[in-house]
Amino acid sequence: MSFGFDIRHSPIDTFPVPLPADYHMHTPLCRHATGEPTEYAARAVALGLTEIGFSDHSPMRRDDFDDWRMRFDQLDEYVENVRRAQRDFPQLTIRLALEVDYLPGQEEWIRELAARHPWDYLIGSVHYCSGGWDIDNPKNLVRWQERDAFDVWSEYFDSLTSAAESGLFEIIGHADLPKKFGFRPTRDCTPLFDRFLTAAKQHHCAIELNTAGLRKDCKEIYPSRRILELAFQKGVPITFGSDAHAPEEVGMNFAEALQLARDVGYSDCLRFSGRLRQFAAL
Ligand SMILES: [Zn+2]
Ligand SMILES: [Zn+2]
Repeated sequence: MSFGFDIRHSPIDTFPVPLPADYHMHTPLCRHATGEPTEYAARAVALGLTEIGFSDHSPMRRDDFDDWRMRFDQLDEYVENVRRAQRDFPQLTIRLALEVDYLPGQEEWIRELAARHPWDYLIGSVHYCSGGWDIDNPKNLVRWQERDAFDVWSEYFDSLTSAAESGLFEIIGHADLPKKFGFRPTRDCTPLFDRFLTAAKQHHCAIELNTAGLRKDCKEIYPSRRILELAFQKGVPITFGSDAHAPEEVGMNFAEALQLARDVGYSDCLRFSGRLRQFAAL
């Protein structure tokens, strides 16, 4: 199937609108997920999803960067595992993607990765703040006690803004990840959100509704309703992702995410093929 760029499709009233595609799923190559892509695909079919996308943690130039991503020499194996799921489930549209860590100075490496395989989309995610701190890693929870929450959020959203401005990504992942463990600033973060979403709009980046937040201490979809409302006002498009690290998490809480998107005003989301986007009705 080939997609035109930015072609809008009107909803077909006589058919039920299917659940949106689950565009954020991991594989065991990242060393903290279970189940092969074929098992995730089987789960998606059982749930009635018509489209999914694998977006495992991309390798870094140095394999010893951290311990929660695939090694560079596993990239071809990752692609082959996704291709196998595509062969096993021809009735399901399965996209090939990566969740890429955006870090300042890594742009050239990300371009190299992008050129290696025919990705359908790249999710740009920020997990790291200064000092090499992966803010969502429970092993480093103590570092939250040492830093002012607003400082961390501010630094995080600066990085997200740069990620959007880099033009390297179709989608920005879990936009308010710093809320994961419940460390929220008392100061108003609206200017941070505003700057990031303006960049996302200008650089044609979507944001994802990531339901993994509901399974964390914050018990809330990433991003918050407030951020999503601002995104809608600015015309930033959306995608959906479970951030599944196990087959049973595929499509988890999608009804809730869909409801949130509709409540805020969204009537469509994006689909990707070969890094080109198409609007799909919600
Ligand atoms: Zn992530
Ligand atoms: Zn993820």
